[in-house]
Amino acid sequence: MSERMSVIQGDITRVEVDVIVNAANSSLMGGGGVDGAIHRAAGPALLEACKVIVRQQGECAPGHAVITEAGNIPVKAVIHAVGPVWHGGEKHEAELLEQTYRNCLDLAAANGYRTIAFPAISTGAYGYPKEEAAKIAVDTVYRYIGIRPLPEEVVFVCFDDENTQIYQQLVAQL
Ligand code: ADP
Repeated sequence: MSERMSVIQGDITRVEVDVIVNAANSSLMGGGGVDGAIHRAAGPALLEACKVIVRQQGECAPGHAVITEAGNIPVKAVIHAVGPVWHGGEKHEAELLEQTYRNCLDLAAANGYRTIAFPAISTGAYGYPKEEAAKIAVDTVYRYIGIRPLPEEVVFVCFDDENTQIYQQLVAQL
């Protein structure tokens, strides 16, 4: 299954896949980090689509994810996923982070998407320790695709050198 997973370093808005994942916050109103980069690249249509979702179903709780159009980003859709804020590890952060990845994979598969790109959810402003977050990301995806045909390909898009090294090592060990 590990041949269906890869690691690259760069900007997730430039990756050629069917769907990219945004590390959003509960309000879905955009923010800094990867969220800011995705909203900038997508243009105002993305924020409008997020507002419609919030009007319909309220804010998005940690562990959950929603899907929208991608505006000007040349992918088919954006999945906005809300990871947990790190509070020291005793607040169900690991379970919530695993749930976040699973919900994204479910949404991609339910929409028939074959390729998906993930950022390192929660490892920026939300403060999740990078090594622990990466283990959860890689393990959850590996177990998920091991028993399902979709998504066919999962790309972990790392922005910083530290995450890139951590993810490359974890995926190489599979
Ligand atoms: P969170 O609030 O979930 O921690 P952040 O956006 O602050 O979200 O950080 C999540 C990860 O996304 C961090 O590892 C950060 O380095 C990375 N990141 C920031 N910009 C981009 C980008 N354009 N493409 C991919 N990853 C990015």
